[in-house]
Amino acid sequence: MKKILIATKNVGKLREMTAALSELPVKVLSLTDFENLPDAVENGKTFEDNAKIKAKFFHKLTGLACIADDSGLEVDALNGAPGVNSARYAGYHADDGTNNTVLLNELKKIGVEESPADYRCALCFVDNDVEILTEGKVDGTIKISPRGNGGFGYDPYFYLSNGKTMAELTPTEKDSISHRGEALRKIIPMLRKLFPK
Ligand code: IMP
Repeated sequence: MKKILIATKNVGKLREMTAALSELPVKVLSLTDFENLPDAVENGKTFEDNAKIKAKFFHKLTGLACIADDSGLEVDALNGAPGVNSARYAGYHADDGTNNTVLLNELKKIGVEESPADYRCALCFVDNDVEILTEGKVDGTIKISPRGNGGFGYDPYFYLSNGKTMAELTPTEKDSISHRGEALRKIIPMLRKLFPK
C-alpha cells in the first residue's frame, strides 16, 4: 500500500489531517514515526512558501509522498502577527501556552481587548514530479477571554461569528469550517485521482 507522510509533529494538526486522509487507500505516517529526522528550515515569507519547503524537504529525506501544512493566526490589530511565526511567537521552544501569553501581552501593550483576525492554512503535497498546493482561510475575532477545551493553539481565543470559540467546537464541527478543513477539502479530490481505490 502506498504511504503518505504527514510532515508534522503537531498533535492537533495531525488529528485533523489524518481524519481527512483516512478515506484514501494509503497508509498515513507522520514525523513521529521517524527518529532523528532534522527539522526543515521554515524561512519562507508566506504560508505557501513554508508548506512547500516542508513537503519538499521531507519528501527528499524519506522518499515518501509527503503532505505539509503551514498555518497560523493573523491578527489585524497586530498588523497580521503572529502570521508565519505563529508556532514560534514565544520563541523557538514555544508551546501553545507560552504563545497565547505572548499574544495576550502584545494586545495588552496596545490596549486592545478584541480584534478581527483570521486563520490561514497552506497545504502542499509533493511526490516525485507532482506538486499540489491548496489554501484555506477562516475569519473570526481574537478576544482576550479564553473559552473551551477543544482544538489546539490559539483556538480558545478565536471567536467565530456564531459566538463560539474554535475550542468550543467538536472536532467534526471544527473540520467543517476551519482553514485546514477548507484546504483539505480542496486537496482530497486531487489526491483521490493520484491514489484511486
Ligand atoms: P506551523 O507549524 O509553522 O505551520 O505553525 C502552526 C501554528 O499556527 C500552530 O502551532 C498554532 O500556533 C497556529 N495554528 C495553526 N492552525 C491552528 C488551529 O487550527 N488552531 C489554533 N492554532 C493554529
